[in-house]
Amino acid sequence: MSAVTPAEAWAAMVRGNERFVTGAPEHPRQDAERRAAVAGGQAPTAVLFGCSDSRLAAEIIFDRGLGDLFVIRNAGQVISASAIASIEYAVAVLGVPLVVVLAHDACGAVQAAIDLDTAGPLPPRIAGHIAPIRPAVRAAGTNDPEAVGKAHLGNTVAALVAESEIVADGVAAGTLAVVGANYRLGEGRVEPVVTVGEIGA
Ligand SMILES: [Zn+2]
Repeated sequence: MSAVTPAEAWAAMVRGNERFVTGAPEHPRQDAERRAAVAGGQAPTAVLFGCSDSRLAAEIIFDRGLGDLFVIRNAGQVISASAIASIEYAVAVLGVPLVVVLAHDACGAVQAAIDLDTAGPLPPRIAGHIAPIRPAVRAAGTNDPEAVGKAHLGNTVAALVAESEIVADGVAAGTLAVVGANYRLGEGRVEPVVTVGEIGA
């Protein structure tokens, strides 16, 4: 189990993002010394499961370094067997106390799910990949990408907790929290939208 609590892990994410937003990043733990220190083993303090969008570069937007974040990304941060398995590895084997599910505004995958009925057919693997976003389009009751994106983020966090016993057990035990957050491309700010578990005030 990690020596860091879910609340402490989240606080570190918030502080790092704040440094990035204000243009005062420290670029911590990115040197040769850190590389050598973590070569023998890793003890990351957070999982980042986010969209693959090139503007969501994990260690940059949270101002973290080598060995800090266990990162899983795919287009539209869509829950899949491999994503859940990777998250479970980080939680169960590495003892990571926090999972951040990171969506963002103007997400191309969310827009593709919205446009599915009106646009031409997508290549089959892409269509299959974004299919899990469609319930959010229906639930939002609008084609507003922001509303659909938030609904999809909530669905993703709920699906992760529902489908992973390891995640649900960690939350119940108080050793794990899941934060669904939205990243604003223009400002660089990460805003928590939905939280499962205890991350303090
Ligand atoms: Zn995206």
